[in-house]
Amino acid sequence: MSTVTYDEWRRRAADARRDWPAFIAGKTGPAASGATFAMVNPATGKEWAQVASGDAADIDRAVASGRAAFEDRRWAGQKPRERKAVLLRLAELMQKHKEELALLETLAVGKPIAQAVSIDIRAASEAIAYYAEACDKVYDALAPTGDNDIAMIVKEPLGVVGLVVPWNFPLMMACWKLGPALAAGNSVVLKPAEQSPLSALRLGELAVEAGLPEGVLNVVPGFGHTAGKALGLHPDVDCIGFTGSTEVGKLFLIYSGQSNLKKVWLECGGKTPNILMADCPDIDRAVAATAEGVFYNAGEMCTSASRLLVDRHIKDEVVEKLKAHTPAWAPGDPLDPASANGSLISHGHMETVLGFIDSARGEGANVAAGGNRALAATGGAFVEPTLLDGVTPTMRVANEEIFGPVLSIIEFDGEDEAIKIANSSIYGLGAAVWSSNISTAHRMARRVRAGIVYVNCFDADDITTPFGGYKQSGIGRDKSLHAIDKYTETKTIWIRI
Ligand code: NAD
Repeated sequence: MSTVTYDEWRRRAADARRDWPAFIAGKTGPAASGATFAMVNPATGKEWAQVASGDAADIDRAVASGRAAFEDRRWAGQKPRERKAVLLRLAELMQKHKEELALLETLAVGKPIAQAVSIDIRAASEAIAYYAEACDKVYDALAPTGDNDIAMIVKEPLGVVGLVVPWNFPLMMACWKLGPALAAGNSVVLKPAEQSPLSALRLGELAVEAGLPEGVLNVVPGFGHTAGKALGLHPDVDCIGFTGSTEVGKLFLIYSGQSNLKKVWLECGGKTPNILMADCPDIDRAVAATAEGVFYNAGEMCTSASRLLVDRHIKDEVVEKLKAHTPAWAPGDPLDPASANGSLISHGHMETVLGFIDSARGEGANVAAGGNRALAATGGAFVEPTLLDGVTPTMRVANEEIFGPVLSIIEFDGEDEAIKIANSSIYGLGAAVWSSNISTAHRMARRVRAGIVYVNCFDADDITTPFGGYKQSGIGRDKSLHAIDKYTETKTIWIRI
């Protein structure tokens, strides 16, 4: 919790650092080209900072720095408990600077400051602490080969890992990957989203303060088609950990094929079906969770509960109750600790979201709440929390990821139809089932094709459980000890004795 007042946040925002160099080989510096790009606060529409615009030359330098650090084993060669101590110090420093880091997130992406402190930065530092603890607690294995042989199965770091992350939870998405990649002993080149690079740049500085050797973590801000592509194509990068859209995720598979067959792990889009069966155990609780699930973070969530599949026997009641919840998720100034919601990431994205709402109207859906831009006088990219009733499974809003505060309400009749609609998506990240019959709930949780299935809850979350998707939602899992596998090679050492 933070006790900082609205006035104080505004004062700190006015004083925030304006110039942001890249962070390569343990030092800050300009991009090789000298170019910079502007940060625009989406809640005001105004430019407020300049960031070094890294491109292929900067990626080259960052990869070379990571490779040098890996080859001389200044990090991988440390005792596991020493690596643990450094990462625990980093997690502590993130907590110590939580308000500073949270403000950078809010100014970049328009998310409410209270949530940035209590969710984003807390979860990011918890991820670093969790993987720090794993450093000296995960054991290698011995194969059952008999008395005359010792066959060891050991895990080794990959080398240089490139991380490319999105803007919706900037530091949290980065730390879900950084934690296991660093704990395993790799060097990292982190390319944050161009909309939200500042918290990652500050993290680079904090990592050196925590004792991470120079060159182990490099942060190159820049655009996707320049810096991101250069990292994906780089012949000396061993692995890419990517979170972002499915469209760009597919490009990284191509980059890998065109270069050195680097490993590629993808956390991509979603179109979560949230299924309310007629025997939903508690409609009030399900409706509250649905509203939070789709409107939290202005709907800019890969697991957003964007498709409500509701049994026709309870649909009218559910829609009426949802209407009563919607005002609580109206947007406000992200710097106001009382705001439950902030702006969308940009004016361009706001137009895209409003375009989705228009397309639903055009295809015959009914706008039961919201549907418009909000707080236009502020100059910010705000959209009202929106309920679209009467959506059918073939409409555009039922199939494409909107990434905004828009709920598509789809009626079904019985379990088979619910599962058929739920599974009709190209995505398979999250899903939820609400039923008071444990057999129904369990059967449906098994039948739905998704990496995370919530039963009688939504978006329950912990660093100990794997996170990732089926189908075009991705390849591999973030979080939990499983994530460490993505950043290690498995080696067999066979000794005849
Ligand atoms: P995006 O795909 O546009 O960008 C993600 C990253 O890829 C950014 O760093 C960007 O600079 C980079 N990039 C863009 N074009 C590139 C290119 N041509 N080559 C190389 N790199 C490139 O995604 P976004 O708009 O930042 O984020 C929203 C998307 O992220 C949504 O689809 C959302 O579902 C997804 N997401 C998924 C998860 C998950 O865990 N599955 C979590 C958060 C967000």
